[in-house]
Amino acid sequence: MFNSTSSLLTALAQLLGARAVLTDADDCAPYFKGARYGDGSALAVLRPDTHEQVVEIVRLCAEHSQAIVLQGANTGLVAASTPDASGRLMVLSLDRLKRHIEIDAVNRSVTVDAGVSLQDLNEALAPHGLFFPIDLGANPSIGGMIAANTGGARLIKYGDVRQNLLGLRAVLMQPAGQELNLLSALRKNNTGPDLKQLFVGSSGAYGIMTRAVLQVHRLPKQSATALVVPRDQAAVLELLQVLERDCGEFLSAFEGISGAALQAVLQHIPGISNPFAPEGVPEYCVLVELNSTSDPALSGIDLDSLLMSCLENLFGDVVENAVIGRAEDLWRIRHAISEALRHQGKMIAFDISMPRSRMAQFRDAGLALIADNYPWMRVMDFGHWGDGGCHFNMVWPASASIAYSSDVAQEIRTRIYDLVVNEFEGSFSAEHGVGPYNLDFYRRYTSDAARQLSGGIQNLLDPHSLLGLTRFS
Ligand SMILES: Cc1cc2nc3c(=O)[nH]c(=O)nc-3n(C[C@H](O)[C@H](O)[C@H](O)COP(=O)(O)OP(=O)(O)OC[C@H]3O[C@@H](n4cnc5c(N)ncnc54)[C@H](O)[C@@H]3O)c2cc1C
Repeated sequence: MFNSTSSLLTALAQLLGARAVLTDADDCAPYFKGARYGDGSALAVLRPDTHEQVVEIVRLCAEHSQAIVLQGANTGLVAASTPDASGRLMVLSLDRLKRHIEIDAVNRSVTVDAGVSLQDLNEALAPHGLFFPIDLGANPSIGGMIAANTGGARLIKYGDVRQNLLGLRAVLMQPAGQELNLLSALRKNNTGPDLKQLFVGSSGAYGIMTRAVLQVHRLPKQSATALVVPRDQAAVLELLQVLERDCGEFLSAFEGISGAALQAVLQHIPGISNPFAPEGVPEYCVLVELNSTSDPALSGIDLDSLLMSCLENLFGDVVENAVIGRAEDLWRIRHAISEALRHQGKMIAFDISMPRSRMAQFRDAGLALIADNYPWMRVMDFGHWGDGGCHFNMVWPASASIAYSSDVAQEIRTRIYDLVVNEFEGSFSAEHGVGPYNLDFYRRYTSDAARQLSGGIQNLLDPHSLLGLTRFS
C-alpha cells in the first residue's frame, strides 16, 4: 500500500519511464487547458503507450485512491478531459497509445488503438479506398470520439460514432485494472446486452478504452457541393425533403449557415471571399453535399448534373440562389465558423438538437426570445439541419452597451435550453456529451429514473469516484 503521492509517482515512473510521467509545469500546461472550457492543474500527466501500462496505472492509482481524468486529443467541448482546480487529480493521457492500426478491407473494419488520431486513421485507410466518415473541424482521438459519441457534418449519411462502433476493449476501475475485451468485428452479435454501448457518450466515466473496432466506409469517387439560399426558414425543410426524395442515398451533408455566421467568416478568416459576390451575403444559406462511390463512367450517374437539375427545379420557389463550387472552398467556410465567431466577442455556444421538423419554428422562437430580452446579443447560428443538430451560438459583442455578465450568460443558456427541451422535444447536448460543463443542465433535464440508472452503473464501475469529473447521479 502506498502512503504518499511521491511513492506513487516513483512507481509510475518505474512503470512508464520518467519521460512518460510529466510533472514540470511547462510540459503539463497543454494537458491542463481544454479546447474551449476546462482549465485546472494536476499532480502529474501520465502517458502510457501500451494497454498493459494502462492496466498497471489503474491498479496503482486505485491502490493509492488516486483519482484520474482521461484525456485523448483534448478537443472536447464540455471540460471533461481536463483536471479541475483542486490540483489533486492526475491526467491519464492516451496520446501515446497509438501503435496499432489493423485494417480488414474485406470486412470494411479497422482495429485501432484509442490514442490514434482521426487524421492518422484516415491516412492509413485511404490507400485501401476506405475512410472513417465522422467529419469535423478538429482532429480528435478515437477513444475521445467514442466517449463523446462524436457526430459531425456527415451524420445524415454515415451516422455517428455509435453507429460505426463494432467492438472495443476497456480497462475497468472496478475491479481495478480488469480488462473488458469486447473487440469483436461483427456486425451481428446478439449474445446478451451490447456492453460496448455503455462506453459510448460516457464522457470517460465508465472505464478507459484502449482499443476499438470501427466499421469504415468506401471513399466516395465523386461528390457535388453547393451553397443554396432558401426562400425562407420554412423552405430549408422543403429543400431537405426534396433532396432526400430526389437524391436519396447520395445526400451526405445538409448544413445550415446563418448570414451573421457567414459574415463573421468573411470578416475574420483570411483567404475566404463571399461566394455569392457580387450579390451580398444572404440571410441564410445551406451547404449541400452529395457523394457517391459509384464511378460516373460505369453508373451513368453524374452528381453535379443531378444536383444542378434538382436545384433548377426549385428555383424561384424553394430556392432563391445557389452557387455550385469547389468542395474544399465551400467546406472551408463551414469549418471556419467556430473560429470566426470567437473574434466577434464573448461567445455563448449551444450544441442542441431536436426533431428536424421543429427546426424552423425553434429558430424563429429562439431569435425572438433573444431579440425581445437581450437585444444587444448577436445570434450567429449554424447547424446540422440534416440530423436536427443546431449550434445556436451567439456573441456578446465587446461594443455592447451592457457589459458582459456571466450570470446573464447563464440565464440565456438556461432559457434557450428550457425552450429546446420543454417546448421543442429537444436535447441540451446533441453531440458534445455531458462533462462538468453541462452537469447542471444534465441534472435539470434528465429524469430521476434515468439518472439513478446511469449513476448506479457508475457506482458499480467506479465506487470510489476515481474516474473523471462527470458524476451521472
Ligand atoms: C474546432 C472544433 C470542432 C468540433 N466539431 C465537432 C463536431 O462537429 N461534432 C462533434 O461531435 N464534436 C466536435 N468537436 C468536439 C470534439 O472534437 C469531440 O468531442 C471529440 O470527439 C473529442 O475527442 P478527443 O480525443 O479530443 O477527446 P478529449 O477531449 O480528450 O476527451 C473527451 C472525453 O473523452 C474521454 N476520453 C478520452 N479518451 C478516452 C479513452 N481512451 N477512454 C475513455 N474515455 C476517454 C475524456 O475523459 C473526455 O470525457 C469539435 C471540437 C473542436 C475543437
